[in-house]
Amino acid sequence: MGLDISERVRSVPPSGIRKFFELAEERDDVISLGVGEPDFSAPWAARDAAIDSLERGRTSYTSNRGLLELRRAISGHVDDRYDLDYDADEEILVTTGVSEAVDATLRALVDPGDTVAVVEPAYISYVPGVVFAGGEPLRVPTREADEFKLTYEALERAGAADADLLMLCYPNNPTGAVMTGEELGPVAEFCREHDVGVLSDEIYAELQYENDHTSIATLPGMRERTVVFNGFSKAYAMTGLRLGYAMAPPEVTTAINRVHQYGMLSAPTTAQYAALEALRSCDDEVGTMVDEYDRRRRFVLSRFDEMGVDCFRARGAFYVFPEVPTDESAEAFAEGLLREEGVAMVPGDAFGDGGEGHLRVSYATGLDDLREAMRRFEAYISD
Ligand code: PLP
Repeated sequence: MGLDISERVRSVPPSGIRKFFELAEERDDVISLGVGEPDFSAPWAARDAAIDSLERGRTSYTSNRGLLELRRAISGHVDDRYDLDYDADEEILVTTGVSEAVDATLRALVDPGDTVAVVEPAYISYVPGVVFAGGEPLRVPTREADEFKLTYEALERAGAADADLLMLCYPNNPTGAVMTGEELGPVAEFCREHDVGVLSDEIYAELQYENDHTSIATLPGMRERTVVFNGFSKAYAMTGLRLGYAMAPPEVTTAINRVHQYGMLSAPTTAQYAALEALRSCDDEVGTMVDEYDRRRRFVLSRFDEMGVDCFRARGAFYVFPEVPTDESAEAFAEGLLREEGVAMVPGDAFGDGGEGHLRVSYATGLDDLREAMRRFEAYISD
């Protein structure tokens, strides 16, 4: 028929999360704990900077790699916060969200048939991203018994020694798991031993409640084999402004920039001005949001505990990942909860096989709604 859909696209099913949003829209009293985005707006100083840039008529493209001033601010920020040392000129690329950074990186580094190990449960875009880039995804399941942390043994068991790249995300979406520097050590060792490159999505780095964030790129011998992703969507509540960045050695950012410059040209200019101001003056607002997420996290964990629902102690991002408290599949439980009580949670298997038997519960929702959602959840399992 002329416009034949590619085999790659046909092989990727639509997102399991979308289906739940559609179901949730069928009624108007639904409390959604399904969304993965902040319920706050971006700090005013960042919004004002965006408005100011428009008033000044700054509506042109920026350089492909992003405003140099912004890259310098990012370079200073990641050094202060995570001890990461990346050069603003050559090692940082500003992108249209972490989404574009991951996509462009996969297309820049993956040859047809290359294997990309994806740690599961995983953010829903990674496996499709690998497929669209022509690679072969290799699923590396993590287990609740390990608090969903990645271990040397899990990599070995999954056959990741033959992988070209390893895609990981800590703090994790969907489980809320985090990994300390010590825990990342054996993962780094595995990657060095087997010459595996690492793509580390650290978009939730600021949202850690019991430890400071450690980037795998700071471990010995890892900087040269790692691409680090971060952005403004989560910590700065800027999802709609679409801004992220990739950091890697010069030849790697040059390759990613090749894909970016032809595919995207440059990241949104208005958002770049907002991001610059966010880095300059919004630490207090970020701190206030993080404190609020932590309060909610502790509330949700303690409510599940009171109900006798097994839920491992998530320490990062804004998700907890309880076990389904009945004999049903995660999907059947989530559908029943939505239809009968009007509470939306995402079945864990939407994030890969390792998520079956769990629910992703987002606490990026006000405490009043969380209280009511937990009350309804309790009513549902007591019936
Ligand atoms: N990475 C992870 C782990 C996410 O959870 C999300 C959004 O939910 C993204 C990337 C997308 O980030 P961005 O809004 O910067 O494209």
